[in-house]
Amino acid sequence: MTALPNRRRALIAACALPGLVAAQAPAPLKVVASFSLLADMVAQVGGDAVAVHALVGPDADAHAFTPAPADAQRLAQAGLIVVNGLGFEGWIDRLVRASGSKAPVVVASQGITVRRIGQVTDPHAWQSLVAAQRYVENIRAALVAARPAQAAAINARAATYTGQLAALDASVRSRLAALPPGERKLVTSHDAFGYLADAWGLDMRAAQGWTTAGEASAADVARLIRQLKAQKVRALFVENISDPRLVERIAREAGAAVGGTLYSDALSPPGTRADTYLKLMAHNADTLLAALMAGR
Ligand SMILES: [Zn+2]
Repeated sequence: MTALPNRRRALIAACALPGLVAAQAPAPLKVVASFSLLADMVAQVGGDAVAVHALVGPDADAHAFTPAPADAQRLAQAGLIVVNGLGFEGWIDRLVRASGSKAPVVVASQGITVRRIGQVTDPHAWQSLVAAQRYVENIRAALVAARPAQAAAINARAATYTGQLAALDASVRSRLAALPPGERKLVTSHDAFGYLADAWGLDMRAAQGWTTAGEASAADVARLIRQLKAQKVRALFVENISDPRLVERIAREAGAAVGGTLYSDALSPPGTRADTYLKLMAHNADTLLAALMAGR
């Protein structure tokens, strides 16, 4: 405790000298994240050590993103760039090159168990709360490397946040345990929920593929409607980033219910129900569980 008087003297000196205060509190690290969910994870882990900007914002579709000159400017000024990887941001490498940015690029999904069908990689790994804990660890390590003086606070926030992600995951798993395997069938519009389905033991099909860019063919839609009629599919879901009309039409023709909105590749706008990654995952889990339980 002998250090306390010294620390108090230093504080008094700092308060008396505004210039010194500015020198001691470094400006927040400018972080550019490719899309809104990653930006939130960076903000949760970085706290006041970071100032985060998302290139693809709330309710926007990263699959169909066209960068503007302002986006290259953001990257040029960034101290750190965080991307999902797994081929999700097809536009990012070119944009970083064009910006001339020398900032490190962190691939948040590095080290997760990748989901593949044949040669095709599914990029939507954040829909697993287990994979998300790896994202947080990768972000934590990158922030500590960039701001070693703030390592203790960054590490503490990362530990708290990881605990929240693990607790939500455990809670969803225990609520799902009551459902027999035959009562776990659901349909979404684009195929963003494979990691979620694998993690939580759900059977989820998609009217579109892994990107929002492709049109579902008439034959695909007809096959899906036949499947829905033949099997006990509990509900269909629309997404915040996709046109709801395809799913609504399929539901109508199959005589099935639309179970609500799932948030796939983007947060909802600030102040709304899925404006953080943790709230997004809790909302998706509640929506899925309500639809599955309603049919019982
Ligand atoms: Zn997607």
